[in-house]
Amino acid sequence: MARLVMKFGGTSVADIERIRNVARHVKREVGAGHEVAVIVSAMAGKTNELVAWCREASAVYDADEYDAVVASGEQVTSGLLAICLQAMGVNARSWQGWQLPVHTSDAHGSARILDINGKALIERFRQDREVAVIAGFQGVHKDTNRITTLGRGGSDTSAVAVAAAIQADRCDIYTDVDGIYTSDPRVVPRARRLEKIAFEEMLEYASLGAKVMQVRSVELGMVHNVRIFVRSSFDRPEDIDPHGTPPGTLICNEEDIVEQQVVTGIAFSKDEAQISIRRVQDKPGVAAAIFGPLAEANINVDMIVQNVSADGATTDLTFTVPAADYDRATGVLAKAKDKIGYERLDGANDIAKVSVIGIGMRSHAGVAAKAFRALAERGINIRAITTSEIKFSVLIDAAYTELAVRTLHSLYDLDTVRHS
Ligand code: ASP
Ligand code: MG
Repeated sequence: MARLVMKFGGTSVADIERIRNVARHVKREVGAGHEVAVIVSAMAGKTNELVAWCREASAVYDADEYDAVVASGEQVTSGLLAICLQAMGVNARSWQGWQLPVHTSDAHGSARILDINGKALIERFRQDREVAVIAGFQGVHKDTNRITTLGRGGSDTSAVAVAAAIQADRCDIYTDVDGIYTSDPRVVPRARRLEKIAFEEMLEYASLGAKVMQVRSVELGMVHNVRIFVRSSFDRPEDIDPHGTPPGTLICNEEDIVEQQVVTGIAFSKDEAQISIRRVQDKPGVAAAIFGPLAEANINVDMIVQNVSADGATTDLTFTVPAADYDRATGVLAKAKDKIGYERLDGANDIAKVSVIGIGMRSHAGVAAKAFRALAERGINIRAITTSEIKFSVLIDAAYTELAVRTLHSLYDLDTVRHS
């Protein structure tokens, strides 16, 4: 017997037929003797609709009420799944964030989970073999008693947090792909599924725009050492052996990965913009003057590269922002021009970031140099480079994304071997 968390995303609960399919997956695990807590998202597209309704109601809206509205999508699916399970003869009960409760901070719209009481759930597993169906994405602020939500994609974080709270043996993330791939299979047809990936690598993947899991959920999994298993919800529930090893990717501790390749995968994101501030004064406080106003405008800055000043007086500073924020970011910087003190702004909003990830890089030299050579041979110009212990990223023109990603994927021997 194991204790499992099963999390189903929006596409897996998009309609009643699919919710019934989810119920069959749950029934399979319960039938195998496992204790199960299920976390559900809202039906696909529902949260977007709810957010749009808030905006339609008023251009400026109260964050508490936004949460009251957008949390409702998960209330619906948790109740519906409990109904479907009961109809199949499985004892089940739905739980909203405030009922468990899932206590969070009061940062409405992007609240952080503070604690979850797992005891009640465990007791009910024991006494009534009752499946807990928990509305993902939502919680409650202890002092104000108001409903909160965890930020878009937050039901992944709900799932991992519940898994930690009930000391689950595994947290299964059921999604529309059957695991984490060495790269996006739509771009790299030879990408292959990874059996295992280390938390740190997955964090890089998630941060770099692989939309499989919310970044925070991976952080939480790493802190609490939750074994997270990414698997497909579209396999027929009856075809899966609950005691076997289904296809999927286990996100786990580095030590649990026996055969570690130097490079694990190639991630990329196309929706990047690059901003270069030319001849900015090279003196204390300038970076704060630049990034302070951007942070206040809620613009996420990434990949900051500052040159060493040649004349001791001025320097160039380059960074990236999401392409959608490009106009806003340049607007903010233009407004602060006098305060910052620079000559001019250059930029481009059709930029891609391609990243090579692998914990093996810690102990291998020359991994990046090899990539630079290969990209140069294909005539791809690198606009900026950043590195960290387990990854490096290059900025290139978006038009070359596919070529760059495929080139690097082959370069590091990640292509599937085709037997003919
Ligand atoms: N329904 C929420 C969203 O769309 C939470 C989630 O699905 O993870 O962002
Ligand atoms: Mg999601």
